[in-house]
Amino acid sequence: MIKVVKFGGSSVASATQFKKVKNIIDSDKDRIFIVTSACGKSGNEDHKVTDLLYLCHAHIKYGVPFDDLFNMIYDKYMGIKKDLNLEIDLEKEFKIIRDLMDKDISLDYLVSRGEYLTAKCLAEYLNGQFIDASEVIAFNYNGEINFEKSEQNLISKIKNGRRIVIPGFYGALPNGTIKVMSRGGSDISGSILANIVNADVYENWTDVSGLLIADPRIVSNPKTINYITYSELRELSYMGANVLHDDAIFPVSQKNIPINIRNTNKPEHPGTMILNDCSKQDAIEPPHFITGISGKKNFSVITINKFQISNEVGGLRKALQVFEDFKVSIESVPSGVDSFSIVVETEAIEKVVYEIIAKLKKDLDCDNITVIDKMALIAVVGRSMRNKPGMSGLLFGELGANNINIRIINQAADEIDIIIGVENKDFEKTIRCIYDKFITRSDSL
Ligand code: ADP
Ligand code: ASP
Ligand code: MG
Repeated sequence: MIKVVKFGGSSVASATQFKKVKNIIDSDKDRIFIVTSACGKSGNEDHKVTDLLYLCHAHIKYGVPFDDLFNMIYDKYMGIKKDLNLEIDLEKEFKIIRDLMDKDISLDYLVSRGEYLTAKCLAEYLNGQFIDASEVIAFNYNGEINFEKSEQNLISKIKNGRRIVIPGFYGALPNGTIKVMSRGGSDISGSILANIVNADVYENWTDVSGLLIADPRIVSNPKTINYITYSELRELSYMGANVLHDDAIFPVSQKNIPINIRNTNKPEHPGTMILNDCSKQDAIEPPHFITGISGKKNFSVITINKFQISNEVGGLRKALQVFEDFKVSIESVPSGVDSFSIVVETEAIEKVVYEIIAKLKKDLDCDNITVIDKMALIAVVGRSMRNKPGMSGLLFGELGANNINIRIINQAADEIDIIIGVENKDFEKTIRCIYDKFITRSDSL
């Protein structure tokens, strides 16, 4: 069996966490490929190394002294080295970075150093082989991953039977320049690796016992999701359940490799299994009506009113074109007979909202346009909702009984999720109500 295991920032935040990682690795000989994030926060007062590196770069850009920040990073790694009795020449590593900071250091190179240094320390501590991600993960110039090249790179680097430790979050362009992924990208690195080595499972070790039915910062002690499909997870993580980066799903789902989310602080917990198809598991233990709830705040709803617009050929297309012209991506388009609305992230239109309205008025010759801000979208996701009549009635009835005004409703044809829009102020309350109705009181359904 081949297992690719990825450890998130909190799993490598201190020497104590490194020891937990070692126990996890030593307890299973199949855990061969190890991907690590940069050291995360080890307490409330602490900072994520990647955040500090981004801050250093901002200081460089504006010509502000950054040595205090840089020293915080240095001290963190020196502390880990000392506590674990490592031999790595960190002085040399930091000198290379520091010297470049006085020249023209690129943002991507600088922020990738967190993963690089963490992986170097971890490789030594685990007695594994360090392979630099810039020599494995190959990007094309358009930013896409070149899987074939990455696979060849990896094969050419593996030396002997030792475990392999690779930094997450970055790779290299064809000319060798380092390129980072988006924040949380180590999840993607692990997934790419799982794809290229044809892993039997991709274990993603973090600080929670799997994917929880709702965000633990909103619902206290939410239950763990035992099994979830890739598509359900895509919906949940796209809408904010960001325990796993949403781009980490595609590379493994392509090859049907299960993802297992696990807790470094509770390695005995089985966590969450993410599969292409959960029907076998569902036959043994029927899942809840809903698998998970997630959501995001701060959307704007732009409503275009025009008599009988639904009969007008090309009306919707003209409106969508305006948003495309302003490079604004659209979340949802609920429609009526004499109006339709376009839901977008407020941040995406903030600077151009008046221009967009003017263009819509001109191109659509409409009667009225309104913009409502401070809206939240919540995704209620569940494979069991499919073909279950009455599900929406139960949901809306519960929210009505709790005085929550639903402003938007959207359900995709595959029926695995219902998206509802409520005001920002009702966001947390709505998630708690749904959790309470469908999970806590699920026996009464
Ligand atoms: P890592 O550093 O290991 O990559 P992240 O911080 O990226 O970890 O993701 C784990 C965090 O995701 C948890 O600590 C939790 O606060 C948050 N989170 C948000 N929604 C959920 C959810 N539905 N289930 C589990 N964790 C969630
Ligand atoms: N260290 C990077 C970040 O903080 C990548 C990761 O942790 O996955 O975004
Ligand atoms: Mg993460």
